[in-house]
Amino acid sequence: MKGTQTPAEESAAEARLVAALRERGQRVTSQRLVIGRLLRELDRHVTAEEVLRRASEQLPGVSLPTVYATLDLLTELGEARRVSVGGPVLYDPRVEDHAHVRCRECGRVEDLDVPLDAGRALGAARAAGFAPETAELVVEGRCAACAAAG
Ligand SMILES: [Zn+2]
Ligand SMILES: [Zn+2]
Repeated sequence: MKGTQTPAEESAAEARLVAALRERGQRVTSQRLVIGRLLRELDRHVTAEEVLRRASEQLPGVSLPTVYATLDLLTELGEARRVSVGGPVLYDPRVEDHAHVRCRECGRVEDLDVPLDAGRALGAARAAGFAPETAELVVEGRCAACAAAG
């Protein structure tokens, strides 16, 4: 699952992003490609601020609102996932269904590979008159390091 992509995988991922942008009638800009690549390279849950710090080296003058807008666009295109786990919003390059665990003390977030059946929750939301889009499972507690530190 996790791990550095080979150059071939990376160019395939970039080609997929270009195709997804064109399909939606969105312009293919270097900003969008750089931010998409950074997200894949970082290969973990990141805040828009972290992406901005990395992106500024390659995109001088890029602003935080631009980074947010680009990450949200990548999310719409199915290239990223927005994760709300109680802290700042995180962007996750892993788009398939998975749950998260978050440390209450240091805020670290990790993936949990468990089968999730969100169907019942989504059905109950529908019955309550909502148009549900996503469901999120977040387990909270202390991570091993924080627990060891007492
Ligand atoms: Zn912790
Ligand atoms: Zn995740």
